[in-house]
Amino acid sequence: MSYQEVVKEVREKQNIDLAQLRLLLGETTKENIEYLYKNAREVADEIYGKRVFKRGLIEFTNYCKNDCYYCGIRRSNATTERYRLEKETILDCCKKGYDLGYRTFVLQGGEDGYFTDERICEIVSAIHKEYPDCAITLSIGEKSKESYQKYFEAGANRYLLRHETANNEHYKMLHPGYLSLKKRKQCLWDLKEIGYQVGCGFMVGSPYQTIETLYEDLQFIKELEPHMVGIGPFIPQRETPFAKETAGTLDMTLKLLAIIRLIHPHVLLPATTALGTIHENGRELGVLAGANVIMPNLSPADVRDKYKLYDNKACTGDEAVEGDKNLRLRMEQIGYELVCDRGDFQ
Ligand code: SAM
Repeated sequence: MSYQEVVKEVREKQNIDLAQLRLLLGETTKENIEYLYKNAREVADEIYGKRVFKRGLIEFTNYCKNDCYYCGIRRSNATTERYRLEKETILDCCKKGYDLGYRTFVLQGGEDGYFTDERICEIVSAIHKEYPDCAITLSIGEKSKESYQKYFEAGANRYLLRHETANNEHYKMLHPGYLSLKKRKQCLWDLKEIGYQVGCGFMVGSPYQTIETLYEDLQFIKELEPHMVGIGPFIPQRETPFAKETAGTLDMTLKLLAIIRLIHPHVLLPATTALGTIHENGRELGVLAGANVIMPNLSPADVRDKYKLYDNKACTGDEAVEGDKNLRLRMEQIGYELVCDRGDFQ
């Protein structure tokens, strides 16, 4: 079977096997790779139209009790200047975003004990009360099902928790021993059961990743059927154990975005900040490979460069909320409209 026939088959069956994945990821011919992207784009366009949804990302704390080997805000990184935003500041960020047409707010942070369930619920309720027409997404790590339930009742309706890798051995190579894939996956199932729109995901090119582990990631996506999938290139951070590792590539990330679109057509798929960091047109290229979500940064300008998950993180240009107009133009240039819409799963 030719490359293009395989693309067609993956699209038709909405599934992929290991040999097909190897073939699609290994391709170097421009024309064939373009064919993969074109198919992914068509699938996204059929469901969502030529529209890209924007989400306002508020990185509200960089304190974290965890010590993931890849992450710049891991607790052992003593060089990170820590910060946390209080409720009023978070609400100011939402106001700024709302006035610019944002209808989804994503609260992301490290696992910070200061933000007890009570505090999280207070913040979520306040946003919900002020902006009842907006979706509230949380991305604050692993919690008990009871906690997730409380946040849901307070008004949160989406939750992002990347599974990071669906392979047990690989998971152990990326995380300290007290963290487990089993627990991470359980959290995702709990979230789904409660009624959240959930997002899983992984870094592309993380250390020790192989085609086989990626295949397991795709199988996990098929099994979980998440509403969102967040993938972006791994980028080393100089104060982590993975400082000297190689970054994930644009090529692999775009191919994987396209494959995820083909096997799980309705997914909300962001072209992430990490993708915009490794290439100046990373986000446009992401959309042209099947992504349909962009998450500009709504955090106050003075804390943005402290949320350093990886080196050289893009945070002051068009990926920030100040670049809203530019971002709209950039999407228009590639034939897409950046819309003011909650952008729910369809
Ligand atoms: N604490 C929450 C959690 O565990 O889901 C949310 C914050 S965590 C920093 C968000 C995501 O950043 C992680 O799921 C991980 O995939 C990504 N990330 C961390 N370090 C990274 C790096 N060096 N390069 C690319 N992405 C990274």
